[in-house]
Amino acid sequence: MDRRTALKLFASLSACIALPPVFAAASKPRVTVIGAGIVGSSAAYYLSKAGADVTVIDQQAPASHSTLGTFAWLNASWAKQPKHYHYLNQLGLSQWRALQAELSIPIDWHGSIEWFESTQRNQRLSEQILEQQRWGERSSMIHADAIRELEPNIVIDDATVAAFAQNDGAVDPVQASKQLLDAAIRLGAKVHFPEAALAPVLRNERLIGVETNLRTIPSDFVVVASGADPQLPERFSGLPLPQRSTPGVIAFSEPTERILHSVVAAPGVHLHQRADGVVVIGEQDGPPEGQAHTMRLQNRPNRFPNQSLALQHGRQLLTRASQYFPALQELTLADVVIGWRPLPLDGHPVLGASLKRPEVFIAVMHSGVCLGPLAGQIIASELIYQIPVEGIEQFGPDRQFASTVRY
Ligand SMILES: Cc1cc2nc3c(=O)[nH]c(=O)nc-3n(C[C@H](O)[C@H](O)[C@H](O)COP(=O)(O)OP(=O)(O)OC[C@H]3O[C@@H](n4cnc5c(N)ncnc54)[C@H](O)[C@@H]3O)c2cc1C
Repeated sequence: MDRRTALKLFASLSACIALPPVFAAASKPRVTVIGAGIVGSSAAYYLSKAGADVTVIDQQAPASHSTLGTFAWLNASWAKQPKHYHYLNQLGLSQWRALQAELSIPIDWHGSIEWFESTQRNQRLSEQILEQQRWGERSSMIHADAIRELEPNIVIDDATVAAFAQNDGAVDPVQASKQLLDAAIRLGAKVHFPEAALAPVLRNERLIGVETNLRTIPSDFVVVASGADPQLPERFSGLPLPQRSTPGVIAFSEPTERILHSVVAAPGVHLHQRADGVVVIGEQDGPPEGQAHTMRLQNRPNRFPNQSLALQHGRQLLTRASQYFPALQELTLADVVIGWRPLPLDGHPVLGASLKRPEVFIAVMHSGVCLGPLAGQIIASELIYQIPVEGIEQFGPDRQFASTVRY
């Protein structure tokens, strides 16, 4: 996807947004959405808006997995490589802006500031920012004085140079998922949980329903937005979806007075403060290697074994963050969770219907917060408006997955 294709893609999606629902009540296509995280909730909203008869099921509860344990940075920054994936993320940000206007979702658009400890890595960052500029991103390298102007409470060395990405933002994805589901319900969608999808119901190799632990849901299409679940996409599409899901710890403070404005990606720690005053802190490194951690993590827990271990991890993050914002040391933690990234092996989203089973649309991705609304709009465009989205085939489930380590 080059910039022209990306712009065409956005134009065709914007045109869809303006379209009225396409079906009379009797002929509405029935779509079952599996998973009510930010991706499934977005799909439910845009599908309902397009006039589909939508049923959403979640085996636990809406926004209880990755969408809870996420840092929720909205960005198209240097890590979003190569160019076609970068453009997809730029479109993701535009779609959030459109959605914000539509549903009044609170989003902090204060940009992001990022730098590294090593001079060598920071030098590479400057080169990456030049590339970003060539790709149309509003990013630049800024010095300590400019950083302090943006963040008056920050403590940094005079020699610090950082990347500032003006277009970036952050959202509360749990709240956004709720708003999306509520809006979908107002448009007629049904949301059921806890209810687990088990298998597709097929007739002559064609999908006719979804078997759950409670019933069979008659369906013309199914959207699999099951996040990091390693098996479900294959069970429904008939195609393996190789993932290498990785964990990350996220700490949430009690709401507090404004301490910081931008998303700050400092050495060893990421942080931002939401509009409701909650400071969100994420680690940059994964878990330490060792048998004890491997054992603890093998069943992919979202919670620590006990509250005191959770608080201990949260306090470590607070200590790292308070190196840069000393006021954070006094914060009270409200929650500390472990999130699991839905991560296709090549690091890129899987977004498309399977050639083998075209009624099954797979939507599994990292940066799913950034891309959720765009994914929802693409799903509605392809399944309901039947407008093929140019360029999106590069993210299809039938591609060859090569292993790439980005996160
Ligand atoms: C530590 C961390 C930091 C991150 N930082 C960012 C970031 O800064 N920016 C960004 O854009 N992204 C980030 N991500 C990634 C992002 O959080 C995810 O890509 C996104 O939340 C995925 O949303 P989802 O709806 O696909 O998955 P989820 O939120 O996991 O939702 C999937 C849902 O499917 C349900 N489900 C699973 N199986 C079944 C079944 N059989 N039947 C019914 N329901 C089922 C689950 O219960 C779950 O609720 C981060 C992730 C982590 C872990």
